[in-house]
Amino acid sequence: MTYSMVELIGKKRDGTSLTPDELAWIITQYTADALPDYQLSAFLMAVLFRGMSGVELAAWTEAMLHSGEVLDLSSVGKAKIDKHSTGGVGDKISIPLAPIVAACGVAVPMMSGRGLGHTGGTLDKLESIPGFSVDIDPEVFASQLEDIGMVMVGQTESLVPADRRIYSLRDATGTVPSVPLISSSIMSKKLAEDLDGLLLDIKVGSGAFMKTKADATELATTMIGIGASHDTPVTAILTNMDQPLGQAIGNANEIQESIAVLRGEGPDDVTELTIRFAIEMLMLAGESDPIMAQDKVRNALESGTAFETMVRLTEAQGGDPSYIEHPERLEIAPYEHVIQAPRDGWVSSCDAFAIGTAGVRLGAGRATKEDEVDPGVGFSIRAKIGDAVSKGDPLAIVAYRDRAKLENALATADDAWSISETPTARPNLVLETLR
Ligand code: URA
Repeated sequence: MTYSMVELIGKKRDGTSLTPDELAWIITQYTADALPDYQLSAFLMAVLFRGMSGVELAAWTEAMLHSGEVLDLSSVGKAKIDKHSTGGVGDKISIPLAPIVAACGVAVPMMSGRGLGHTGGTLDKLESIPGFSVDIDPEVFASQLEDIGMVMVGQTESLVPADRRIYSLRDATGTVPSVPLISSSIMSKKLAEDLDGLLLDIKVGSGAFMKTKADATELATTMIGIGASHDTPVTAILTNMDQPLGQAIGNANEIQESIAVLRGEGPDDVTELTIRFAIEMLMLAGESDPIMAQDKVRNALESGTAFETMVRLTEAQGGDPSYIEHPERLEIAPYEHVIQAPRDGWVSSCDAFAIGTAGVRLGAGRATKEDEVDPGVGFSIRAKIGDAVSKGDPLAIVAYRDRAKLENALATADDAWSISETPTARPNLVLETLR
């Protein structure tokens, strides 16, 4: 059966549900490069405004999942658990988390994404390690998983190619913040990994795609539902994204911060969430005692086995492991600009959206599908909500390469901080856990 894409766009625009066959046809055609980007962009924008029914979402996700091969990892003799974030600013948690969990004896077949909108992406960050490839052969997937305990890859031409294409189109067309589009993107990747369990970090706040707890809860329950219909247990943890996570926002600098977490020297918020998520993943893998899970996680960090796993992963995926041993050698842009506190007081907001947008303008993310990410530019945040500051103190240090891009970035970053005359409480990192 063949359809007219103009008619299908019109149907969605006017609020009429599409049939599963029509939705599957769109995915098949777009994956085969038989639909132009402008038509799919228009369709995605219509979905963003009109949403999808449960039946439509199930059909769309299923078509994305089967746009490529679905892995059979039954030969791997360990529980296979993955984690995915709905996207945040400074959110590098997956990078220290996966080796910790792998070092605890759980297999982590992690398929991540690139920067999306104002948020950063695990794949872009990993690629700032010289030589690191996120494009590994599905044939090698199971053996690396068995051997090292983890794989960190992106969508390929054989693994969820529909998400590979639609993801980068959404990034450049303002069509990210949609419950059905985020759910289908994440769950198609995760269901292709033959998982025994999935942990979702559902970000809520200014720097997240879901600005309110109610929207984040809807996104979480939608994905828990998709997992349930595929017999995949999903735990969703709602976490605060009103301010960036950690200090580093960018790519290479986020790898440096991730390695610091593995060495026990990371910022408190990143370390706390990483450990919390690692415990949840061990519990999804069958550990029933949270204290035992916590001991295993601490031991993986303190014994250095998690760090060693990261070294082995880097080597296995073509990266130069000396950059994991010496992350200070990663190239950071040569020029610095300091954003200073305009007055004495307490930081009452450190707006993750403004800082994420500034990061993209600096070159840490993409404005068009064709843009190359600059791994060396970014922010080092020096003052977060609740911190006391004096006039002239650094709020952030910006590493930049191009003066015009810096100025464009400062047009939004300069307004990211509010300083109040009275102390402000630090926000809670974890808001709620849903299963
Ligand atoms: N992560 C994804 O993989 N897809 C989205 O749409 C958002 C976050």
